[in-house]
Amino acid sequence: MTDLTASIRTIPDYPKPGILFRDITTLLGDARAFRRAVDELVHPWAGSKIDKVAGIEARGFILGGAIAHQLSSGFVPIRKKGKLPHETVSVAYSLEYGVDEMEVHRDAIKPGEKVILVDDLIATGGTAEGAVKLLKQIGADVVAACFVIDLPDLHGADKIRALGVPVRTLVAFSGH
Ligand code: AMP
Repeated sequence: MTDLTASIRTIPDYPKPGILFRDITTLLGDARAFRRAVDELVHPWAGSKIDKVAGIEARGFILGGAIAHQLSSGFVPIRKKGKLPHETVSVAYSLEYGVDEMEVHRDAIKPGEKVILVDDLIATGGTAEGAVKLLKQIGADVVAACFVIDLPDLHGADKIRALGVPVRTLVAFSGH
């Protein structure tokens, strides 16, 4: 059986000293690992009706597109400020140092549509929390948030569960 943990490469001190960067390009480049990650992430919703999968720029687009195809759902990009061409709603979210903004098209989701949020990794949960708020603001019923990697010591998944959204992760790394 493909070992997802072993397919993820760790780069020390990237993008800055002290960070262990969990690089999923090695997982994506491994056909078996990529398929397994997508299959395992969608497993609980196989056969149920999910209207849209929302992916967070940029790695959430790669996983989210594959997951949307697997679930026969639409795909919705959540992008950094200024990248989407039509009318948007935006939310500020906290980064390690300072804040940033992300956006979604206002008409990307119809009120009440069932949506799954996808990103590669959840650390402090600030990014995913912003994305959940954005999706709820345009009327989404956020049924779950899925990540290949959890950094449980940073308690990001707890932050998302506290918003009433179940969290699914496949692999955990200790530390940050
Ligand atoms: P956070 O908002 O703290 O949960 O950070 C999550 C976002 O930052 C995700 O989009 C990740 O891709 C990225 N990220 C945070 N920490 C790492 C890490 N150690 N390795 C790779 N990506 C990370």
